[in-house]
Amino acid sequence: MQQKRRFVEEDVPLNKDDLIVITGAGGFIAGNLALYFKKKGFTNIRAVDKKPLYAWYLHVPGVHNLCLDVSNEANCKRVCEGAVEVYNLAADMGGMGFIERFRVECLRSVLINTHLVEAAYRAGARRYFFSSSACAYNTLLQQDPSVRPLKESDAYPAMAERGYGWEKLMSEMFCQEYWHERGLKTFIARFHNVYGPHGTWDGGREKAPAALCHKVVEALDTGKKAITIWGNGHQTRSFMYIDDCVQGIDKIMHCDDLMATPINLGSSELVSINDLLTKIEKIAGVKLKRHYDLDAPKGVAGRNSDNTFIKKVLEWEPNTLLDQGLAVTYRWIKEQYHKRKAGQRVGLG
Ligand code: NAD
Repeated sequence: MQQKRRFVEEDVPLNKDDLIVITGAGGFIAGNLALYFKKKGFTNIRAVDKKPLYAWYLHVPGVHNLCLDVSNEANCKRVCEGAVEVYNLAADMGGMGFIERFRVECLRSVLINTHLVEAAYRAGARRYFFSSSACAYNTLLQQDPSVRPLKESDAYPAMAERGYGWEKLMSEMFCQEYWHERGLKTFIARFHNVYGPHGTWDGGREKAPAALCHKVVEALDTGKKAITIWGNGHQTRSFMYIDDCVQGIDKIMHCDDLMATPINLGSSELVSINDLLTKIEKIAGVKLKRHYDLDAPKGVAGRNSDNTFIKKVLEWEPNTLLDQGLAVTYRWIKEQYHKRKAGQRVGLG
């Protein structure tokens, strides 16, 4: 449907003491986002997650942490009080093992965005960010490992990932209509797989890079010298390093040309799961015997990000090389693994 063009009121610039609210901040991306804004000099950050504080990956000094469930309407009101910008990164999610098995949990995340965008609007927030996903794209376009990169228009006609992907599409639509009908400036990024330190690496919600790093660390520690890969290893994906992700969120949220306009935020460096493992083996200095579990959840055959649009609008795209990001991530997971083995508490998700 053709939307009416409207006059866009210019914001006053964001002050360093304006209140920034970040939900899902006990998790991977939002925790790193709170750290990013803190490092940029923002002094009034409210970080929210339903997890108990001890399970948060990051405790950023000077950030006000709140343990609240934002699928609850009253909590959303409390969380958004006084907010100038709201970043919604809270969702019940995980890798394929989680989202293929717990579709109801994934769908129920629609409550989070539904209540939060309303609360942000009522609180008079200036801008609202929603973390969507490449899982919102039509799965019929992703049946081949040598996939054509997905561009923003490929979400419709819709045939999203069951559960998780449909929730993202629905929440995107909420955000779009809050702009079109009510004038709240909303921004929507479709993340392609994100990886890096301070993320989930064990417990069933971890994604491929963290899962494989963990398995390699474990194989070295136990001397087993073997690894099980989900699927035949020919599935392809692109993986975005966390530093690119948080920088991209900031750029997207502050670009008025992107209001209510879903945009890819992902790397376009395509890799097969087999090649991803080879890279991690190289970092770890080991070669493992590979077993393939063909019955395990494996998701679509191939998925990559078409970055034409982001390069045009922002003159930028995520550009950390996979080899570089993986080296840092592997070191972090190895450290977490050995800390936990030594009886120290580590965040798991
Ligand atoms: P994560 O699981 O590490 O963090 C999500 C956090 O949200 C968790 O700490 C969880 O406790 C919290 N949460 C869940 N329900 C909540 C609720 N009702 N109230 C308060 N907190 C709640 O996940 P992440 O990787 O950091 O993902 C952040 C966002 O980015 C999510 O919306 C996710 O769907 C999206 N995303 C992530 C990726 C990725 O590769 N990591 C890819 C695409 C989209």
